[in-house]
Amino acid sequence: MSQTSSPPLIDSFGRVHTSLRLSVTDRCNIRCFYCMPEKGAEFVPKDNILSFEEIYRLAQLLVEQGGVRDIRITGGEPLVRQQVPRLIEMLTGIEKLEDLSLTTNGMLLAEHAQALHEAGLQRLNISLDTLDKEVFKKITRRDGLEKTLQGIEAAIKCGFESVKLNTLAIKGVTESEVAELVRYALDRNVMLRFIEFMPLDTDRAWQHSQVFTGDQLLQTLHDEFKSVVPLSRPEPSQPAEEFQVAQGRVGIIRSVTAPFCDACNRIRITADGAVRNCLFATNEFPLRDLMRAGASDEDLMSAIRACLAKKAKAHGIDKDGFQPPDRPMYAIGG
Ligand code: SAM
Ligand code: SF4
Repeated sequence: MSQTSSPPLIDSFGRVHTSLRLSVTDRCNIRCFYCMPEKGAEFVPKDNILSFEEIYRLAQLLVEQGGVRDIRITGGEPLVRQQVPRLIEMLTGIEKLEDLSLTTNGMLLAEHAQALHEAGLQRLNISLDTLDKEVFKKITRRDGLEKTLQGIEAAIKCGFESVKLNTLAIKGVTESEVAELVRYALDRNVMLRFIEFMPLDTDRAWQHSQVFTGDQLLQTLHDEFKSVVPLSRPEPSQPAEEFQVAQGRVGIIRSVTAPFCDACNRIRITADGAVRNCLFATNEFPLRDLMRAGASDEDLMSAIRACLAKKAKAHGIDKDGFQPPDRPMYAIGG
């Protein structure tokens, strides 16, 4: 049985990193305005994207030598990459991995949910910002609400350990649909979580005033549902505050107005193999070229630890002089 043979992944503020966000592609089948540009998105050439074998090597190293315990696969849209179930199957073979999940826009889920489940994927998060066809088109610059909704239904039927819905909270977009979206989730017995809009759009058009804040959301929930009862947070590193609403739970992730940086346990690997210590990091450490030049596991772990040593105390979105990262969301992996 393999043992953790090196110390856990600790940064200079004592935060232990046990959670990996693994991007498998920067490509996507839609163009959400809060993430990608409408036209002219730039993608990493395919040869520069990590192979499944390279992804597996890094994941195994992080789990077995770094103490990572959960992996979330993301992108871009992870399901536009061919054969993701094969990668899932490979990752489930990592002995000490406790939790494997994936975030998707849902458009290809009707086709792939069963294969993902059979390959061993435990949990799914599906993005759903609207139930209105025209609003969907405005947000994503594509048609696709029907496919997304079919994907959600297919995923629910498969019997994953959990299916959650993620809704971006954006002023002028989200307010009018809060109740409808919550009812949609409650009717299906899944949790919906609202996430405050962050400055990670390629267009750099984000403004603080566009964030539909957790406080404003709570007020709307109170107005619509009357009883909104805060529940205790199961783990500090869990970013969502949860509330009992009617017969179910609703989550709010205040990534801008009450960030959870103090309890952050996340490390990220981009589709082209850079390790990042934060969504908002302004530096990153490329691992792909190291691997392709024959780096040993020790070399890779040293690079990962060097990256974590530079992790900032907080992302500072609310501070003067905040600079968004060079890479937009789709090129990092959300
Ligand atoms: N394509 C998949 C999807 O949309 O679910 C996975 C990748 S996407 C980058 C992961 C999550 O990031 C989605 O839930 C999406 O809504 C969220 N996201 C994208 N841009 C964001 C932004 N500017 N602020 C906050 N969340 C964002
Ligand atoms: Fe694609 Fe997800 Fe970005 Fe939307 S948020 S453009 S679905 S990667």
